[in-house]
Amino acid sequence: MIVKEKKQDFLSYLEDTSNLKGKARVLFIPEEEKEVSSILSQASRQRLPVTFSGAGTGTTGGRVPLEGAILSLERLNKIIDIDPKKKIARVQAGITLESLEKEVNKYSLSFRALPTEPLAFLGGVISTSASGVRGFKYSSVRKYVRRIKVVLSNGEIVEIPRGKFFANRRRFDFTLGKLKFKFNLPTYTSPQIKSSAGYYLRDNMDLIDLFIGQEGTLGCILEAELSLQEIVPDYFDCLVFFDREESALNFVEEVKALKKRGSFYPCALEYFDRNSLDFLREDYPSIPSGNCGVYLEQEISSSREKSKVLDYWCSLIENYSSLDKCWFAEDKKNKEKLLGFRHKLPQKINEFLRRHHQKKSATDIAVPSQHFREMYNFYEEKAKTSQINYVNFGHIGENHLHFNFLPKNSEESFKAKGYIWEFIRKALSLGGTVSAEHGIGKIKKPYLEIMYGKTHLKEMALLKKVFDPSCILGLDNIFSRKLLFENKNS
Ligand SMILES: Cc1cc2nc3c(=O)[nH]c(=O)nc-3n(C[C@H](O)[C@H](O)[C@H](O)COP(=O)(O)OP(=O)(O)OC[C@H]3O[C@@H](n4cnc5c(N)ncnc54)[C@H](O)[C@@H]3O)c2cc1C
Repeated sequence: MIVKEKKQDFLSYLEDTSNLKGKARVLFIPEEEKEVSSILSQASRQRLPVTFSGAGTGTTGGRVPLEGAILSLERLNKIIDIDPKKKIARVQAGITLESLEKEVNKYSLSFRALPTEPLAFLGGVISTSASGVRGFKYSSVRKYVRRIKVVLSNGEIVEIPRGKFFANRRRFDFTLGKLKFKFNLPTYTSPQIKSSAGYYLRDNMDLIDLFIGQEGTLGCILEAELSLQEIVPDYFDCLVFFDREESALNFVEEVKALKKRGSFYPCALEYFDRNSLDFLREDYPSIPSGNCGVYLEQEISSSREKSKVLDYWCSLIENYSSLDKCWFAEDKKNKEKLLGFRHKLPQKINEFLRRHHQKKSATDIAVPSQHFREMYNFYEEKAKTSQINYVNFGHIGENHLHFNFLPKNSEESFKAKGYIWEFIRKALSLGGTVSAEHGIGKIKKPYLEIMYGKTHLKEMALLKKVFDPSCILGLDNIFSRKLLFENKNS
């Protein structure tokens, strides 16, 4: 195991892409599971806070420690087994999505729910219940996690398979390893739309779903078993540029209706507003003049289907834009170029903020489909009055855009924060969620409190103490540590 005790040796672990800066006493990089177990059992006895670290691509300060120890999973990064017949992979939490995909591709398999950032670790992705560009079809990674191995805060290593431990409405009663658990779940229900806001809760839920999206507060994910899909034989990727925003939004609505009807529909449906295209033009000067863009990825299951699919898309696109304004990708190289284009935008935003020493002022809001236009118009209207540069882009297929202000100084940042609050309140009034995929971490806690109210946050704190009675794991993620200690005698 590697242990680093000098701050200058672990500076990069004290931040993530939110630009929140943390502090810690020590960094542990275990190379074996039993080392994780012994770090946690000792930390529990000494009441030493421990923050788990993935790749640090998170956007909410989740892996940023405020004190105590950092436990990085980077050396627990092996593929344990790939079963091509059952289409299952067993892998350790420190593997990057990029390496996972490369390895499973060798067996003609793919992890299609792959979130956009290839350097993220699987453990981080499961802990935030992340989703990717293909979320329109594949939704979040939650659906594909069949089993996890977790180290609890007392050091015990336990297996949580899907389909074994269910709540009876809101009551759990089960034995895990040597430990017996009996507890009531909080009383709120997670929204029925894409959401990563607080612990996932449903009546009669599966225990594994509580640990997916727990943001390092309930236990350390060591390993996961994932269900995979076959590599898609062929695809059609396209970036359509539109002269008018209204045409793009109508196009998107028609594509969403395809999904509702159950006919063929793309796996990715992503949006770039005019400012996003202008921002990207610095790197991609060939972006045609236009107002906004929609990226779609259509999987094609056979060569017989291909010409039908291409004809379909061409005629649909022509109803709203023109084919000479599109970028098409029908081979691997061009497909990667288009995906690179999509990925470039969040990267550029993070670079911009770092350059200007500003923290993220962005939304991760999703709203119910019927309210998407209202939310979109609200963004536009408020953005115009703000006079701060911004970009608005993302997973439009799931009614989930990332509105990002680009503040150049602290005055603009301060103003931007006020607008973000307005967006949050509007989304909640429409039945939306404050976080659809990035989680709450440390910087979105005030939004979660508005979403669920203090009573439900207190219930979350009580739930955490069931698995982490010493209150050492992922402190200040999801809810304030004050709630844990307020509840101490309850
Ligand atoms: C350019 C870019 C594009 C992105 N695109 C997307 C996207 O499309 N969709 C999306 O959902 N997100 C996206 N993100 C955000 C980020 O990649 C995800 O949140 C990802 O899940 C974080 O993984 P990580 O390994 O970097 O985790 P970290 O940032 O290191 O940690 C995230 C959280 O997980 C906890 N954690 C980490 N490992 C473990 C473990 N083994 N056990 C328990 N808890 C653990 C940490 O304590 C922390 O709370 C993007 C980020 C960037 C920079």
